[in-house]
Amino acid sequence: MLSVMDGLMPIGEFSDRSGLSPKRLRSYAAAGLLPPAAVDPESGYRYYAPGQLHEARVIDELRRADVPLAEISTLLHDPSPERLHRWVRQVELDKDERRAALERARQLLEVGSGADRADSPIDERKEQVVHLTATTRTDIGRVRKANEDRALCLDHLIAIADGMGGPPGGETASTLTMAIVQAAFSGRSLDELQAAARAANVAVFERAGAEDQLEGMGTTLCAVGLVDADELAVVNVGDSRAYLVRDGSLQQLTTDHTLVAELVRQGELAQDEVAAHPQRSVLTRAVGVAPTVDLDAAAHVACRGDRLLLCSDGLSNDVPEDVIFSLMTSDRDLDATADELVDYALASGGHDNTTVVVADVSA
Ligand code: MG
Repeated sequence: MLSVMDGLMPIGEFSDRSGLSPKRLRSYAAAGLLPPAAVDPESGYRYYAPGQLHEARVIDELRRADVPLAEISTLLHDPSPERLHRWVRQVELDKDERRAALERARQLLEVGSGADRADSPIDERKEQVVHLTATTRTDIGRVRKANEDRALCLDHLIAIADGMGGPPGGETASTLTMAIVQAAFSGRSLDELQAAARAANVAVFERAGAEDQLEGMGTTLCAVGLVDADELAVVNVGDSRAYLVRDGSLQQLTTDHTLVAELVRQGELAQDEVAAHPQRSVLTRAVGVAPTVDLDAAAHVACRGDRLLLCSDGLSNDVPEDVIFSLMTSDRDLDATADELVDYALASGGHDNTTVVVADVSA
């Protein structure tokens, strides 16, 4: 047995070198993770191989991120960037939910909890209600022969869909998606907005399969709905974007689902190489190209004074982010801001259809 133990570390030494306590190592082994390389049959003492240190560190970091043991086991067998990225998104969602809860708690504390208010919870809730005021602009651009972008601009829902597949598929996909999302979303919840996006996906997919000239059509979808009186529900598929201006800073609320964005996330492409990449417009996700769709969804607290921008890639490809920031924080009204954004894209070449929705959050 001793020859088998050669080169192995007893559990104490492995614990010191990995930073994981013997108790934790035993609990991992019980869950099927990081089993000891050998166990002394007489003493029951556990031994680990030096090569297991790397796996121990991976497991420990994933546990620090609160990834469940069962999922860690799956990740070790399938360490794909997509699977890990889903956990990054989950952490962001959890963070947003906690921030939203803290914001509600802060507002409740400001309102107070005295007996004189205990019988009027609806009045308290009213103090948190915010409203959306929005405007939209679209332009065919200087190159394309048709405008396949579509937008929604309602008091509880703003959205952009950038159709693809060429005429008539592209505009059919974006028009159908806007119609279904508008019909299916009443402002109830983030879940309702996701269900609306999934309903649009099924409708576009089935329509594409039913008519030869529509085969292969699809669309992006970036939708922001006002829910629970004071939250922004954000659902995104593709490379249309949502930005939030708050307290003088610009934050992109969405992640692009493009091949180049994936390569940047994986460290295989530098951000400054994206613009010249020949496949920069290739999407990794879209509405209507498969029976089911993988959505990004998140809720954000809406604050009075927030300004939102939704845009198709015609804007984000032709207008640098620092220009978007300066135009979005210029204190111009919504219509002037939307005009200036689209005009800048046209002046930069107007290589694609360009569509924006600009919205203000007010009390
Ligand atoms: Mg486009």
